[in-house]
Amino acid sequence: MPIPSDNDQAIRLAAFKALEGLVERYGDVLPWEVIQEGFTLHGEQHLFANRTRGIFWPRQMQQTALSIKTTVPRGSRVARYDDDNVASDGAFLYKFQGTDVEARDNRRLVRAQRLDAPLIYFYGIEPGLYQPLWPVYISDVDLASHSFHVMVSAPETVKQLQSTLRVADAKMLAVERRYTTVQAKKRLHQVAFRRHVLRAYEERCAVCGFPRTELLDAAHILPDHDVRGHAEVPNGLALCRLHHGAFDTNLMGFRPNGVIELAPSLLATHDGPTLEHALKGFVGKSLLMPRADEMRPKKLYLEERYERFRKVG
Ligand SMILES: [Zn+2]
Repeated sequence: MPIPSDNDQAIRLAAFKALEGLVERYGDVLPWEVIQEGFTLHGEQHLFANRTRGIFWPRQMQQTALSIKTTVPRGSRVARYDDDNVASDGAFLYKFQGTDVEARDNRRLVRAQRLDAPLIYFYGIEPGLYQPLWPVYISDVDLASHSFHVMVSAPETVKQLQSTLRVADAKMLAVERRYTTVQAKKRLHQVAFRRHVLRAYEERCAVCGFPRTELLDAAHILPDHDVRGHAEVPNGLALCRLHHGAFDTNLMGFRPNGVIELAPSLLATHDGPTLEHALKGFVGKSLLMPRADEMRPKKLYLEERYERFRKVG
């Protein structure tokens, strides 16, 4: 397998390293303000991506691109999931710039495929928020649908490029990429679900109003493994860790009209302030719901979940 030209690879590795630092510091989802700061290599400033272009490379890169980006438009409130955009091989589909594969931007990705060069995918979760995926590879150029197939790989595989791969290794690599892409998509859905639910609830617990996102979860009303338990906002509730735990273990339940209940076993006991105030204190009160109708929990989901709470209790 050929090796990307040295200069391109050096910029790329510096970008990956810098990105790793950003994710460590800010978490999985990066605001555009952080991405646009770029990174330095040998004292020179480079950008990760460009606000308006999808396919990007710093001018010092000669062969391929550094990153691709998809954006959620401002004002869009529809949750974005990739389900309608999946290739038969499980890859992400990334649209050509225009329809001409020979266009300047597209040619950079065609070359990335030929060289098997690793790229960064800034995947838009919400307006101005991106989850970076890297390394990603262009596994196919689909002229019929005007799109590139994009596969995610494990970070440690980047180094394998520096040695020539045998055929057997290349096959293993294809298997690894398919697996890592599936995992990356799952993670992406979880991250997106959490972001969308927390935003719908204005980043507060639906029971107690606690406002620190570090301690807030997006709880599923119907569990993840239920076929209807889609990672969509109407199947979610923003809950703090305590209330999420109580809800998941059926110590706390919500009537379909949103009124909060506790399991009889808890009601019958007496203890310190956590039980008396943080749990019993909310019995009979109503869940704090999102203002927008389409963001509120589906009544059917609440009914079914409440039945389960009653049975267990
Ligand atoms: Zn709470």
